[in-house]
Amino acid sequence: MIQIPKGCKDVLPSQAHIWQSIERKARTEAARYGYEEIRTPVFEHTELFSRGVGETSDIVSKEMYTFLDKGNRSITLRPEGTAGVARAFIENGLASEPLPFKAYYICSAYRYERPQAGRLREFHQFGAELYGADSPAADAEVICFANALLKNFGLQRVSLRINSIGCPHCRADYHEALKNYFRPHLGEMCEDCRTRFEKNPLRILDCKNEKCKQFTAGAPSMLDYLCHDCRDHFGQVKDLLAMAKVKFVVDPSIVRGLDYYTRTVFEFVSDAAGAQGTVLGGGRYDGLLSQLGAKPTPAIGFGMGIERLIMVMEAEGAEKSKPRHVKCYLAGMDERSRAEAFLLAQKLRAEQISCECDLMQRSLKAQFKYADKIGARFVAVIGEEELALGRAQVKDMKTSRSESVDFDKLAQYIKKGRVNENGERSFRS
Ligand code: ATP
Ligand code: MG
Repeated sequence: MIQIPKGCKDVLPSQAHIWQSIERKARTEAARYGYEEIRTPVFEHTELFSRGVGETSDIVSKEMYTFLDKGNRSITLRPEGTAGVARAFIENGLASEPLPFKAYYICSAYRYERPQAGRLREFHQFGAELYGADSPAADAEVICFANALLKNFGLQRVSLRINSIGCPHCRADYHEALKNYFRPHLGEMCEDCRTRFEKNPLRILDCKNEKCKQFTAGAPSMLDYLCHDCRDHFGQVKDLLAMAKVKFVVDPSIVRGLDYYTRTVFEFVSDAAGAQGTVLGGGRYDGLLSQLGAKPTPAIGFGMGIERLIMVMEAEGAEKSKPRHVKCYLAGMDERSRAEAFLLAQKLRAEQISCECDLMQRSLKAQFKYADKIGARFVAVIGEEELALGRAQVKDMKTSRSESVDFDKLAQYIKKGRVNENGERSFRS
């Protein structure tokens, strides 16, 4: 038997409603904040990610799905959504349209990771991108958007953690301070952290290794190294969030896993889901667009893992959506009445009523059983007698009441769910 690749998951029809409800709520919230959808390819030139996400990030250094296509081009399955959006923004000249540019995406992403709860190789993200605005209000609005999004999903145990990782100018001093702090402990730290020490010491703060975490706890804080402008920016973001009554905790250990971040970074973390509690992460990346060849353009955004969101919703016992059921099942008792049921089903669908009829040549009893399983509210039975009268025998599965309804009035009856005008009672039960 051929099995699904490691780290992937099927969304089966019985679970689809959960995904659809999440996507619907996310799209609705995005519209409230003035975001339009953007769709970009699943794969891009590898260089986009190595330049955009950064060579020293975990993603680029070890998690990418990269291959040569038949034309010998190095192609990579997108490990995140931002780089593709940034490329599309530049390539389509969107910088010359009125700014800010606001777009959201719902996409799959691919990372070669060790699969575990909440950590997959194919996963899905909802993300938002805001380009062209460098004001603290842009940061605050994006965070409010993320906060509103998570509220819609009924999460109670998530907290918002924010930090500022400064700009390239003030970060240089901080890197030195981090190096001085970690140097004596390097021998006891993981191999990755020894590489990070040389290439990007900030990244050490993001290490998930328990041993390394012991040392990161006492590391100097970036907040003590912020330059005047970065400090001022962060102060205003905090003030605006407080004004908007969005609760947050300043957490200097939040640095984010991608190289392109500057200034504000944030995560929404649930304490209900163990190690993989980060549902949503984001921040400012003022250097990204110029890094990809555009003129300097400030940018900010976030990404939310949908599988993680579902996992956290389950862990928190947040109320989930209910599956949608077919409204009516049309049962036929013989060949002619089955054909009539087929036709009536078409008519009901044309009236926007969801319905099914028998495609399995089942007995009436088995058809009722099936109708029950699919959660049909009404079952309309058609047999010889009904055919002759031009009426169906309709059973309301909720109240168990049966009524005879004119074929022509079936749609109206099902929509209103009440006794037909002349109040005829059932003659078959
Ligand atoms: P982590 O620290 O958990 O590895 P990250 O910093 O790599 O996360 P981002 O690149 O910021 O994560 O991605 C944004 C969101 O996407 C995460 O907060 C998480 O919800 C989700 N996510 C990231 N990697 C995975 C994965 N392998 N499987 C499922 N969801 C993921
Ligand atoms: Mg990661």
